[in-house]
Amino acid sequence: MPMVSAADKIHNVVILGSGPAGLTAAIYTARATLEPLMIEGEADPTGDQPGGQLMLTTDIENFPGFPDGIEGPELMQRFRQQAECFGTTIVSGAAIKVDLSERPFSVWTAGLADSDMPIKSHSLIIATGAHALHLNVPGEERLIGHGVSTCATCDGFFFRDQNIAVVGGGDSALEEAIFLTHFARRVTVIHRRDEFRASRIMVERAAANEKISFLLRSRVLEVVGSTRVEGLKVENVRTGSESMLGVTGLFIAIGHEPNSGIFKGQLELDSNGYIITQPNSSRTNVHGVFACGDVQDRVYRQAVTAAGTGCMAALDAEHWIRENVE
Ligand code: NAP
Repeated sequence: MPMVSAADKIHNVVILGSGPAGLTAAIYTARATLEPLMIEGEADPTGDQPGGQLMLTTDIENFPGFPDGIEGPELMQRFRQQAECFGTTIVSGAAIKVDLSERPFSVWTAGLADSDMPIKSHSLIIATGAHALHLNVPGEERLIGHGVSTCATCDGFFFRDQNIAVVGGGDSALEEAIFLTHFARRVTVIHRRDEFRASRIMVERAAANEKISFLLRSRVLEVVGSTRVEGLKVENVRTGSESMLGVTGLFIAIGHEPNSGIFKGQLELDSNGYIITQPNSSRTNVHGVFACGDVQDRVYRQAVTAAGTGCMAALDAEHWIRENVE
């Protein structure tokens, strides 16, 4: 792992985050000879880790170019190799504070040798991603990738003719439940209330789908299974009675949170904390700061769209640097 002496230079571009968006931005800025520095992020209790959310998935079959599929961690290793081979410096550590009020920008990190000194950069590409909210119940974390998933688009295909469950009562949960009926035999939506947060049309569509059934006023107490999901221990929140639901898959769709906390008060965020970028660009409200990937995308949230916006951020940053720094 390269050592970075924080104080010794002003970088052209610092990239925060090492998922598909950050690494694509790195490939492009490195090929543009901008010598990017990437701060890859650190593993934390929410499951975030260097490489982003794909590190938590198994087979990926919808990333173009891999007709036989590829495992998430291997895909990210390949992104990384490509970024490094063009001259990206990747350092381990998490950005914990930024000062975007003056240029060069300052980034403080945890986990680097001289963490007290900020890293200085003319421009910044933010690719810190988002994390799916978890239930935090026994068995859930252990069985992620083995029947527990937070992404129906990524993993639905693996549940052909199986009985599965979706937790949540918002648009995501019902959209995922409907999508999953293309594969599964039966989809049970487990929701803690008897009213849905989802839009009426989604509720109506889900209710009309004969493969979907509802377990309302219920919460998952435990994901049961030794090496794969075998069932869920569910509690009726009104009566307190417990039962077992025999399913081989659990999709958690209780919302996402963008990893944007350190930018609060410095960048424009929407009401859910997503960084606001200008239409058809990766520009934020601060000149020289660009955002890409899931930290600014509440709609698509796919690896390939993250990579696409990573490319946009790199091209925007390159253009900005040529005009403002050199
Ligand atoms: P959301 O609207 O915040 O809904 C989250 C759901 O998860 C709620 O029903 C909530 O229950 C439940 N929940 C939260 N924490 C829970 C926990 N610990 N245990 C059990 N259940 C829990 O999130 P979302 O569905 O991801 O949607 C986010 C935004 O994207 C929304 O604005 C949505 O409209 C939008 N979206 C739109 C579309 C579309 O238009 N096609 C598709 C997807 C998402 P409570 O209801 O009891 O709080």
